[in-house]
Amino acid sequence: MDRYIRQTALNQVSEEDQETIRSKKVLIIGLGGLGGLTSSLLARAGVGHLTLIDTDKVELSNLHRLFELNEEDLGKSKAEATARKLRKINQETKIDVHNENFNVDNGERLVQEADVVIDGTDNLLTRFLINKVSVKRNTPWVYGACVGTVGTSFTFVPKKTPCLSCMIPKKPICTPECEEVGIMNTVPPVVSSHQVTQAIKLMMGKETLKKLFYFDLWKNKFQLVTVNKKEDCPICGNETED
Ligand SMILES: [Zn+2]
Repeated sequence: MDRYIRQTALNQVSEEDQETIRSKKVLIIGLGGLGGLTSSLLARAGVGHLTLIDTDKVELSNLHRLFELNEEDLGKSKAEATARKLRKINQETKIDVHNENFNVDNGERLVQEADVVIDGTDNLLTRFLINKVSVKRNTPWVYGACVGTVGTSFTFVPKKTPCLSCMIPKKPICTPECEEVGIMNTVPPVVSSHQVTQAIKLMMGKETLKKLFYFDLWKNKFQLVTVNKKEDCPICGNETED
């Protein structure tokens, strides 16, 4: 296990934990600025099985925040191009690629097969679907979002934390203005790093943060925000802790 020697040297990660991480399967939905780096960090950390899903192709404007990809990958499937890099990073990690959108037809099966789901999407509608399916299948998922110089992350654990619908009751449709706002390429790595750390804790059976992690890198502002469970939430309202 020389590959992971600097990881198992941590007080927080034992050799047994490393074996546990190797036995886990993580679903990464969206392979943009968040999901691409997330997949790389997880493969390097020794997660045994990654499932990647994204239907987009690599565009020139993506390269400023897709850290594992380069100009040779332009026009190629983001999921497939990322998988090729990951296989060179860690041959021990099994990688499944789905060159399609996460949707109502494939969502439940993909989430059911995963131990942890990580959100690398850029839209709330897909996140609401991830939330609904994850609550139904009792699978934890780690939300992440970036816009401008701001990033947020929340670890949703069914029956233990509020769900996305508790946090954002309505479904604001993301209009083209979202793309016009832009994004600083230093923001996704911070969100991704937080998501991956929480995901590894989930895999190891450790407690995760139950607050929203919010930051604005430009303003040097970092906050943990309390999110309350809504008793009448249409998605998790009648779920109770075991
Ligand atoms: Zn809820």
